[in-house]
Amino acid sequence: PQRAAEVRSLIRDVPGFPHEPIIFRDITPMLADGAALADVVEAFARLCEGPDGHAIDVVAGMEARGFLLGAPLATRLGVGFVPLRKAGKLPPPVERVSYDLEYGSAAIELRTGTLPVGARVLLVDDVLATGGTAAAAAQLVERSGGEVVAAAFLMELAGLGGRERLSGRVVETLLRVE
Ligand code: 5GP
Repeated sequence: PQRAAEVRSLIRDVPGFPHEPIIFRDITPMLADGAALADVVEAFARLCEGPDGHAIDVVAGMEARGFLLGAPLATRLGVGFVPLRKAGKLPPPVERVSYDLEYGSAAIELRTGTLPVGARVLLVDDVLATGGTAAAAAQLVERSGGEVVAAAFLMELAGLGGRERLSGRVVETLLRVE
């Protein structure tokens, strides 16, 4: 973002949420600030513009904060938006990918037939932590016939292994915290 320090200051660090020792990064103050939100969406858009930008056909966002950033980005770029939803929300038929969490597992789904075959997809989410969600999202898009051009995040929590988990893929992050 052009005003990265200001955007960063609008992301609240919440120690102990949802439980120790996690420091949750709460983006709701940033979302509520019109200038900061526009700055963030514009920074994502620049990743997809110019001769070195990613050429994409569609933005895919991870539920739920990936929707909040991905949908305005898609509008800004003039492309469509595909929601990657938590299991059980979409009517059938769906494609599904399950993945492991610290405790238990989760699954995400995409409506079968939503993605044109060969569609060039930009994955978008707010936070890259362990990379488990994004790795599953990339698999889901590929299983559905899309090509993951890059995965873009507002904030990378460095040291949790997300980049390594996504190795071999193009990873873009607007902010990075140690
Ligand atoms: P990962 O799968 O990379 O471990 O976790 C990333 C997913 O969990 C993303 O969908 C992200 O929205 C959510 N997430 C994990 N940690 C945080 C956090 O500190 N703040 C926010 N806003 N989301 C988080």
